[in-house]
Amino acid sequence: MTSYDIAVLPGDGIGIEVMNAALEVLRALEPRIGRKFTTTVHPAGAQLYAETGTALPDSTLSACRKAHAILFGAMGLPHVRAKDGTEVIPQLDIRFALDLYAGVRPIRTWQGLPVPLRDPRAAEIDLVLVRESTEGLFFARGRGTIEGSGGDSYALDTMKITHKGTARVCDFALRLAEQRKATGKRGHVTNVDKANVFTSMAYWRDIFVERAKEFPAITTENAYVDAMALNLVMKPWQYDVLVTENMFGDILSDLIAALVGGMGMAPSADIGDEHAVFQPAHGTAPDIAGRGIANPSAMILSAAMMLDWLAVRHDDPTLADGARAIESALQKSFAQKEVMPFDFGGSSTTTDIANAVLRNL
Ligand code: ATP
Repeated sequence: MTSYDIAVLPGDGIGIEVMNAALEVLRALEPRIGRKFTTTVHPAGAQLYAETGTALPDSTLSACRKAHAILFGAMGLPHVRAKDGTEVIPQLDIRFALDLYAGVRPIRTWQGLPVPLRDPRAAEIDLVLVRESTEGLFFARGRGTIEGSGGDSYALDTMKITHKGTARVCDFALRLAEQRKATGKRGHVTNVDKANVFTSMAYWRDIFVERAKEFPAITTENAYVDAMALNLVMKPWQYDVLVTENMFGDILSDLIAALVGGMGMAPSADIGDEHAVFQPAHGTAPDIAGRGIANPSAMILSAAMMLDWLAVRHDDPTLADGARAIESALQKSFAQKEVMPFDFGGSSTTTDIANAVLRNL
């Protein structure tokens, strides 16, 4: 039986809880699609940092490099801080170490789950945000400086936009729009920037416009990030694929998760040319950790995204069938009102939701 090695990094807080649910779903899928997932759990996270002084051991990173794909829960704890006072965020280190430049954040509405927006067209929300994940304003991480002293002091963080980094993420978004178009979706990319103010963003826009010419079947537009924040709330059903700089993407990905009810339904993937990490868009949710009520859907859907990525990479379409089976099982669980997650006002536990998916697989 064809087997895939999956490096599993559950992390901290609800990361561990939702990971257990996703692994159960993968195990149940194996006999149905005739594929094996050899999952190996590796240590990483804020708790590990508190205990050992290391958040991402070299052995874990090297296991990630060797695996076919990486499944990641969530990492970080509010009381665990690095020596400089910043949060311990190994997921950022993995993104940089493995050059995972495309942060892919799909969201859609789910029949059976309440939608925060009242407009009936909210039922049609189905979009993907692609966030550049290796440079932009996050280039400043660990490099910021405070100059001068007293009342004359100031802080400097640098935004870095390279031609290579921008072109490859724009190409990724345009290719994604092509793939979506092949499945009946719009085939439209909205580039989100702030080209009216910043040299770096005007440079980004020029590169996007240049790259878009290589994809004549895809329609495109350019938008300013402030206007996008407005339009994503006013008429999110109009969008298909969005591509944007790292910091803007960080903010907008939480905004779009809210459009469909919150972080519990927001999967994500961080994809490079050689490696990819699949993790829910949410964090460790310290406010609900340990209570068994985290919604595992985002993690389960991230596992489905992993199957789609492996399917293309290893020319194994059966894996994509597995991804569709997982999505249908989750859809059925909500549509038939078998479960209603806590973050949607229901009372279904993490285990209840995992069990409903297993039943419907
Ligand atoms: P980070 O800084 O890593 O994003 P955070 O604590 O700021 O972490 P989250 O952990 O994503 O943000 O949590 C934001 C809110 O969403 C919290 O109230 C949390 O309880 C809720 N939340 C996040 N994930 C889930 C989930 N899977 N199920 C239910 N609620 C969730």
